[in-house]
Amino acid sequence: EVESTSHSDQKPQIGVTGRKIVYDKDGKPCRTCNTLQDFQFVTAGMKPKLTSPPPSTSNKTVSESAIASPVDTSNKIAGGYAKDYPPDVSELGRSSWTLLHSIAATYPENPSTKEQQDLKQFVKLFGNFYPCWFCRDDFVKYIDKNEPKVETQDNFGKWLCEAHNEVNVKLGKPKFNCNLWKQRWKNGWDN
Ligand code: FAD
Repeated sequence: EVESTSHSDQKPQIGVTGRKIVYDKDGKPCRTCNTLQDFQFVTAGMKPKLTSPPPSTSNKTVSESAIASPVDTSNKIAGGYAKDYPPDVSELGRSSWTLLHSIAATYPENPSTKEQQDLKQFVKLFGNFYPCWFCRDDFVKYIDKNEPKVETQDNFGKWLCEAHNEVNVKLGKPKFNCNLWKQRWKNGWDN
């Protein structure tokens, strides 16, 4: 594996975060497959544009950093919205897992046959359209081997937790205890 950290004709293989740079099939850097830092690093010819810590490594998001700036109003567009960036692989992932686990949390405890069919179809289509292509390829393979369990809310919540754990392990993160999925995504930890 080439670890390019200098300017050259060669495309950088490793970003500033130490992660491998992911390119789309047309050879352009994939925005939704890389961290924002790495994407900016590779698109700005190795010069990171961010002046504040990146969203994946700081508590502030890019938009919060922008809002916190007392002088720079050029980051605002009409209507008062900040010029937020399209999501990187981490933001996209967090938002997607939040949506998926929240769907599990509100899925009926005893779903009808139609609800079960619809959810299974939704999960498959969600996988097919997931915006990070290499994440998508693995997720689609996982679903093919591990059919979504949709018979009850708890079945689905646990199936999803295991699917999420598969990605956690791939990224070197600890596994979440799937017996606790409802505390995290449905009931909270207080009772
Ligand atoms: P996340 O993993 O996003 O988790 C958010 C929160 O969910 C955690 O803080 C925790 O409270 C809770 N949680 C964690 N694990 C579980 C679990 N098993 N069950 C229930 N709750 C849990 N990123 C890549 O770099 N490569 C990939 O191939 C890749 N594939 C992905 C495939 C899919 C379908 C999705 C939705 C995301 C994928 N991601 C991938 C993104 C990755 O999973 C993370 O979302 C991203 O790295 C940000 O991680 P995070 O630490 O903020 O927490």
